[in-house]
Amino acid sequence: MLPKETKTNSTTEIMIIGGGITGTSTAYFLTQAGHEVTLLERSELASEASGLNAGTLWQIGWGASPDLSSTLSMGGLELFKMLQFELGYDIEFRQSGALKAIQTEEQLDFLQKEVQHLKSQGYSLEILTTRDAQSIEPELNSALSGCLHYPLGGSANPVKTTRAFASAAQQRGARILTNHEVSTIEYLDNGSYKIVTNKGIFQARTLVLAAGPWCRSIGSMLGLHIPVFPVRGRVNAGPTYPRVSSTRPDVVNRPHLYSTLPCSWSCGIHSLLASKSI
Ligand SMILES: Cc1cc2nc3c(=O)[nH]c(=O)nc-3n(C[C@H](O)[C@H](O)[C@H](O)COP(=O)(O)OP(=O)(O)OC[C@H]3O[C@@H](n4cnc5c(N)ncnc54)[C@H](O)[C@@H]3O)c2cc1C
Repeated sequence: MLPKETKTNSTTEIMIIGGGITGTSTAYFLTQAGHEVTLLERSELASEASGLNAGTLWQIGWGASPDLSSTLSMGGLELFKMLQFELGYDIEFRQSGALKAIQTEEQLDFLQKEVQHLKSQGYSLEILTTRDAQSIEPELNSALSGCLHYPLGGSANPVKTTRAFASAAQQRGARILTNHEVSTIEYLDNGSYKIVTNKGIFQARTLVLAAGPWCRSIGSMLGLHIPVFPVRGRVNAGPTYPRVSSTRPDVVNRPHLYSTLPCSWSCGIHSLLASKSI
């Protein structure tokens, strides 16, 4: 049912659609820069991809000539530190490094060349023997062929991080409206946008589409073709392993790292940690 024109009618300078990490962090930085911001989220904050991920923060280090990806990754790490240590939000950020499992000798051979190349570019990573990796994570399975070690990697709670950005934006004047689903957008003659939601109608001079994969459907409201679409993700949740403490590094198995090699996608944490201990 379309909302009646008598419901909330409101104007704002900048309207952000989407309450994930993209929308809330944008709201924070725009309010920080002195803009008037309203954010519309159809459900709750972090209810989609921003709340359903592993919380891993990767780095491959500042290189001598860092590329865009490593610059953004390292810059992102600084933002997590800013949220936790300067703004005081507990987002469970920790920078305890990360280990990626090397499952086979073939993967090891492949990575030796890769890592040599990346290190020559100034990246901060190394291959450890399983024995050396066990000095960082004693529960690692001795049958591994080794580990890639990223000393600067870390993790954070994605839901808390998204909410922290929203809260910091609110403190700087942003309006964060959850349970507001955008159904149509119209570009008006006066150069502003009319945004219709289930809770009311809004006008904004500037629109930020931060709806993740739903940007495609939102974009089509404006005649834009945005070539992204939602795909259902998959996360395996298991029991907590009491002996793996939160100060230990993240240990992950990412076979796609070795995408030129045949390998199984099904190896999970059980193959990484010694079975006797879990
Ligand atoms: C701390 C952290 C760690 C991460 N770690 C990992 C990781 O280890 N591995 C990994 O793969 N990814 C990770 N990610 C990334 C994550 O998986 C997503 O890529 C990212 O969160 C996407 O954010 P988004 O805001 O663009 O999209 P989303 O979180 O999907 O947000 C889009 C929002 O738009 C809203 N919306 C949609 N349509 C409408 C509408 N019509 N009206 C109003 N609202 C609408 C949706 O409800 C949704 O809340 C991490 C993210 C964070 C924050």
